[in-house]
Amino acid sequence: MLHQYEITIVGGGPAGMFAAFYAGMRGADVLLVESTAALGGQPATQYPQKMIYDIAGIDGVNGVALTQRLAQQMDHFQPEIRLDTRVDSINPATGTDLVVDWLQVDANTPAAKANPHGYILQTNQGSIATQTVLIATGGGAFAPRRLAVDYPTEWDGQRVIYTVRDVAALTGQTLAIAGGGDSAIDWALTLVDRAQDVHLIHRRQQFRGLESSVAQLKQSRVHIHTPFVIDGLSLTANDQLAVDLRPVHGDEHEHLVVDRLLVNYGFASDNKQLRRWELALDHNLVTVDRLYQTSRPGIFAIGDVVTYPGKVKLIANAFGEAPIAVDAALRTIHPDLRQPPHSAAVIGK
Ligand SMILES: Cc1cc2nc3c(=O)[nH]c(=O)nc-3n(C[C@H](O)[C@H](O)[C@H](O)COP(=O)(O)OP(=O)(O)OC[C@H]3O[C@@H](n4cnc5c(N)ncnc54)[C@H](O)[C@@H]3O)c2cc1C
Repeated sequence: MLHQYEITIVGGGPAGMFAAFYAGMRGADVLLVESTAALGGQPATQYPQKMIYDIAGIDGVNGVALTQRLAQQMDHFQPEIRLDTRVDSINPATGTDLVVDWLQVDANTPAAKANPHGYILQTNQGSIATQTVLIATGGGAFAPRRLAVDYPTEWDGQRVIYTVRDVAALTGQTLAIAGGGDSAIDWALTLVDRAQDVHLIHRRQQFRGLESSVAQLKQSRVHIHTPFVIDGLSLTANDQLAVDLRPVHGDEHEHLVVDRLLVNYGFASDNKQLRRWELALDHNLVTVDRLYQTSRPGIFAIGDVVTYPGKVKLIANAFGEAPIAVDAALRTIHPDLRQPPHSAAVIGK
């Protein structure tokens, strides 16, 4: 027999962590489930040391520090957390799965009428029973898009890196960065003051980053190589990385000698699980209504995994979505729920 949570949040990125805090503040019996060994999602794994400047009230914080602050905030309510737990399927529960049959709790709520016993989540660590589900799985399991040239696999993580885990280790080095989006530009600007030299390589003349970042890049001492593609990698006699750059037009190659190459071609996401959850999707994103309700009753979704008219994939938006979705989830269980209290009324008392 399983304990049945009121809300199970799937995904421990910024959206899921803030939702867990807010669910705790609303007094919900909440469980947070994360497939990897640590909370934090993209900021913690993809850009731990990159600064984030567009979160209300915080004038700059890096990915690791944001994760720490979210964890500290969640600690007010100490939600139950299960790490290394990947949700594979979401099935309607039967009354025999549960200690408490939801029908006996409140049979009149809309979600209970549509799905009387809530859900059973099948994970790689066993089953979870829950009345409602809040999906916050972001882009799913991310993997960086790889460089399209051959090189020895042992260079991965050493000479060729896809994720910066330790900015300090790059101090004083000569670096090449490949890519033309926000991430490549952000890294070039973050590293230019620490590194000996930074070369930015992009296959187009124009960068795809924020206009203000591109303007800053052009004023900086980053060496820009456009429009070029990386045609080959080899080692020099003194064990440095030689990067052969082929022009997109013409045939005058350029040659760089660097300590490391940071490849920033974005991430390919793996939405395998999501496709099995029988939710209405649009381009592999979950469609939701104004209360972040999905096409299945009692299942809500927020953060990068959702789409709706005007959706922008930003942490600030995910933070705004969380209280609405948690409130809507709680109202499907407790229709007479009163207006949410302000935080000081709960935390300060
Ligand atoms: C390089 C880069 C720079 C960025 N810079 C900024 C910025 O400056 N400002 C900004 O606002 N945004 C920025 N973003 C975007 C921001 O990081 C995302 O909008 C944000 O992380 C979305 O949060 P999320 O919680 O929805 O998803 P994620 O951060 O993707 O977290 C999802 C979590 O769910 C887990 N998960 C996935 N599937 C399962 C499953 N089946 N079971 C259990 N757990 C699962 C994943 O492991 C992950 O931990 C940037 C993104 C990148 C890649």
